Amino acid sequence: MIPSIRETSPVQSLYLAFIEALKACGFEGDLNPDYANRTVLATDNSIYQILPQGVVYPKSSEDLVKLAELSSLKQFRGIVLSPRGGGTGTNGQSLTDGLIVDISKHMNSILEINVEQRWVRVQTGVVKDQLNAFLKPHGLFFAPELSTSNRATIGGMVNTDASGQGSVLYGKTRDHVLELHTVFLDGSEWNSKPINDADFKATAARQDRVGELHRVVEDIHREHHQAIAEKFPKLNRCLTGYDLAHIHTDEGLFNLNSILCGSEGTLGFITEAKLNLLPIPTVSALVNVKYDSFELGLRDATELMKAGPTSIETVDSKVLNLAMNDIVWNTVSDFFPPADGQYAGREIAGINLVEYTADNQDELDEKIKVLTDRLDEQATSNTASSIGYSIAMGSDSVGKIWGMRKKAVGLLGNAKGEARPIPFVEDTAVPPENLADFIMEFRKVLDDHHLPYGMFGHVDAGVLHVRPAIDMKDESQIPMIREITDQVAALCHKYNGLLWGEHGKGLRSEYAPSFFGDLFVQLQRIKATCDPRNQLNPGKIATPSDDFALTKIDEAPTRGEEDRKIPVQVWEGYSDGMYCNGNGACFNWNPDDAMCPSWKVTRERTQSPKGRSALVREWLKQLSERGIDPVKQAKALREKPFISGFVSSLYARTKNTLAKNKGDYDFSNEVMESMSGCLACKSCVGQCPIKVDVPSFRSKFMELYYSRYLRPLKDYFIGGLEFMVPALVRVPWLYNGLMKPAFMQKLLAKVAGMVDSPLLTGVRLDKELQGLGVRWAAEENIRNLSSDEKARAVIIVQDAFTSFFDTQVVIDSLKLLKQLGFVPLLAPYKANGKPLHVHGFMKAFDKAANSNAEFLNTLAVEQLPLVGIEPSMTLAYRSEYQKLMGDKAPTVQLLQEWLATQREHLQSQAPQLNAGDFMLMAHCTEKTNAAASIKDWSNVFADLGQAMTLVDTGCCGMAGTYGHEAQNADNSKALYQMSWSEVVGNRDNEGKLMATGYSCRSQVKRVDKKQLPHPLQVLLAQVK
Ligand SMILES: Cc1cc2nc3c(=O)[nH]c(=O)nc-3n(C[C@H](O)[C@H](O)[C@H](O)COP(=O)(O)OP(=O)(O)OC[C@H]3O[C@@H](n4cnc5c(N)ncnc54)[C@H](O)[C@@H]3O)c2cc1C
Ligand code: SF4
Ligand code: SF4
Repeated sequence: MIPSIRETSPVQSLYLAFIEALKACGFEGDLNPDYANRTVLATDNSIYQILPQGVVYPKSSEDLVKLAELSSLKQFRGIVLSPRGGGTGTNGQSLTDGLIVDISKHMNSILEINVEQRWVRVQTGVVKDQLNAFLKPHGLFFAPELSTSNRATIGGMVNTDASGQGSVLYGKTRDHVLELHTVFLDGSEWNSKPINDADFKATAARQDRVGELHRVVEDIHREHHQAIAEKFPKLNRCLTGYDLAHIHTDEGLFNLNSILCGSEGTLGFITEAKLNLLPIPTVSALVNVKYDSFELGLRDATELMKAGPTSIETVDSKVLNLAMNDIVWNTVSDFFPPADGQYAGREIAGINLVEYTADNQDELDEKIKVLTDRLDEQATSNTASSIGYSIAMGSDSVGKIWGMRKKAVGLLGNAKGEARPIPFVEDTAVPPENLADFIMEFRKVLDDHHLPYGMFGHVDAGVLHVRPAIDMKDESQIPMIREITDQVAALCHKYNGLLWGEHGKGLRSEYAPSFFGDLFVQLQRIKATCDPRNQLNPGKIATPSDDFALTKIDEAPTRGEEDRKIPVQVWEGYSDGMYCNGNGACFNWNPDDAMCPSWKVTRERTQSPKGRSALVREWLKQLSERGIDPVKQAKALREKPFISGFVSSLYARTKNTLAKNKGDYDFSNEVMESMSGCLACKSCVGQCPIKVDVPSFRSKFMELYYSRYLRPLKDYFIGGLEFMVPALVRVPWLYNGLMKPAFMQKLLAKVAGMVDSPLLTGVRLDKELQGLGVRWAAEENIRNLSSDEKARAVIIVQDAFTSFFDTQVVIDSLKLLKQLGFVPLLAPYKANGKPLHVHGFMKAFDKAANSNAEFLNTLAVEQLPLVGIEPSMTLAYRSEYQKLMGDKAPTVQLLQEWLATQREHLQSQAPQLNAGDFMLMAHCTEKTNAAASIKDWSNVFADLGQAMTLVDTGCCGMAGTYGHEAQNADNSKALYQMSWSEVVGNRDNEGKLMATGYSCRSQVKRVDKKQLPHPLQVLLAQVK
């Protein structure tokens, strides 16, 4: 039995007092000094892990004023505050050992739009893609781009002066900031915008911090503009944080925003932003130019610029190969065929993605032609450095390729082995003409350290992203961080560039004095004016005086130091969660994207893959520090017989549970709270660039957790259902009679924690088979098939949910397969075990899975294909089963995967069917874990003469039995409303929708009282 984890790092009394004081003064947001929140917000995407004292989530500017004013009181001057948005910083920008002020949770509304004047006013917790989705119907967009656009906030973008692809045309964030609303640390609020002399004078005359700041900044401009002009490089990525070069606009207006943009939360809390918008370019295209040498690609980029593109991005072979092995490749593979013609056989080692935008197609074609003519001519005369190109025309195709490029940074973290590419020198910027030479020297630095790395970036702006692979758990590798940073900083100086081209300084600020030179003291003046006691995000950008120090890159605690405390065998036993690198892709804002429904519906960072991964790491560390090896414990648990295992621990578990209910602290309970909100939908497994597999480590955690505490009754009901159902189906009246009445429903919710439990159909497949002319998949029947029959035979593997609760789907599937000339055989029912796995009954799962696998493998005697109808149960054979038994796992295909191997035959059957037009609402696990199979559905439908489109939806909210558990019922329905409800409710979609998942169909039935058919039922109905 695992011990209780009573002691974790306690919150300092000063912070507890501060939080109490916040409560007392009417702070309306959330105050979270709990260890779970502190643990999850201790990391960003950087190499650092800094445990905060707590996290607060303000609801308004008023909350922030209260926070600021309190922190100015004498007794709270030791309080340190760090603003936070999406937490996607790559260099510890938002990390602190004080209090994190997370503005993203509540302050994320779009406040006002003026379409004619093309501006929008937002709270700064708004995510960039959220804003652009809102603007799209108005034909407008917020132009600064960044790879993390689906989770980074406007506040974060403003504070790092973010930019990315397209920056040569569109500039940086500050170029689109019209006004900022800031709460300063003395509680004063100010709306800053470029102002004329008269307004400046009036403002500078104020006797508060706002007035003082205006005076100081103007003095710096007046006294040092010459030095500033000389010092600041003339780069697209100017020297941000604090950007002294733009204190006055080209029109001569005083602009405080130039100082605030890029200030990384060191000057104040920015609560609202008024942003400039641009019209969405009408048409766009990408020319994807391939090279067999990355260096050639880099050098060619300068040439390509002459063809007047909007932007050029480059990607090396390492990144490309990682993308090829990711779900994202399915969307772009058509644009990257192997080199052919005169270049056949040459390996692609680099790609330049050359973007063109225009107001109309003719103009776009003309622009592209300038480049393609040149490339064609070079190819004909054998003078090309490239080895061919492809064109992606239209915003849809362009968006897909940019999606792949955006994911590339995260994908780098998915390299195999313990040394993983990490950010610390990853966003250098040099004049584009120096880039190739700079990179060659940069590569030498890394090669001299024998480090592998991947590279990609914005060659048009001279920015290249480089992430060397270092194992931060290995102490001997840590000194390389300092050595390499020093050498790269020196290279940046040599090539007139910057160490921080894009992602901000964060904990690399110690290099700022060397880049700002004598001007650094002016940054200190600004900092001293806004934050004289160094309370706001201290140690970054600048200190108020030399009495305080900037944090050195090797001073802050690292993730590796903490991870190192977990013994290797434990680390390996939980490898499904250990490599999360905090890139935040799981905080995806889009409700129509499958990624993490539990995060979307709660907006709690603890309820996300990153949160769960951080918590389980901390839990393992805490156990390890107590001398407990959870891997060994689990093994022992599985080996124990029922009596000495389950029964003999009953007393202790009851006692522990009573103590828990009385309020005894155990960190495991905080971890459990996070785990129990997970839907086990597996979207993280498919979509996380690192393939963090929450359901896998969650099951392992639950197994041990319930060795200490009692399980809820519902777990036994859910885990046992697959085994009970063959008996129950013989007395459906009894089961349904017990489940259906309203008073029973109430009782079940209260006692068993289950709601709206599905009812048995009462239709018995064993009785239906003969009438359908379908045989059982018994060894003898299989052997007796004629060779003709064998060629068309397929074995349908049953699952409990479809066979007993949605039996008509099985019957219709068998009918259709017969109708299409196939010979379907039905495998006798056997429990799959997935519900056991989901709830952490690992011993029982192992047993059920082994028995089922053995049985299914006996059916594979004649190599007939095994095919499952229910996506999530079927996909268990290639994930949970594979992990358990490796090659012994039976190969069970999804229906569409198998049908897609029969395309010629399907085409020959098309005349049997009327034509139709349908919309597919696919199951999340299928979309994210078997992404290519969605294309299979399109092909199958097309082959049978049907049009089919995939509807982009998020999670339906049911996910197996999640939605039937009373504790999840509200979240389950809220999730349905986020994405499915509108599509299902839309009258235009009537008669067109179909759903592959049993859970999805039952959720639609439960909430909207509609019956969505399975795709095979739809096809059956099309038969003439
Ligand atoms: C995989 C990956 C790819 C990336 N690609 C890019 C890229 O292409 N371009 C790019 O520019 N960056 C990129 N970044 C870096 C990062 O995404 C950006 O810096 C982003 O702007 C941070 O936004 P955020 O909301 O996550 O802010 P956070 O990381 O939470 O905060 C960033 C800084 O802003 C401050 N801050 C946040 N909100 C406020 C506020 N309201 N008031 C005051 N201070 C505040 C914080 O204190 C911190 O110093 C990438 C990061 C990752 C992990
Ligand atoms: S779980 Fe995956 S997507 Fe989320 S932060 Fe970790 S690595 Fe990134
Ligand atoms: S399984 Fe689904 S709900 Fe659970 S962490 Fe992964 S994405 Fe989130």
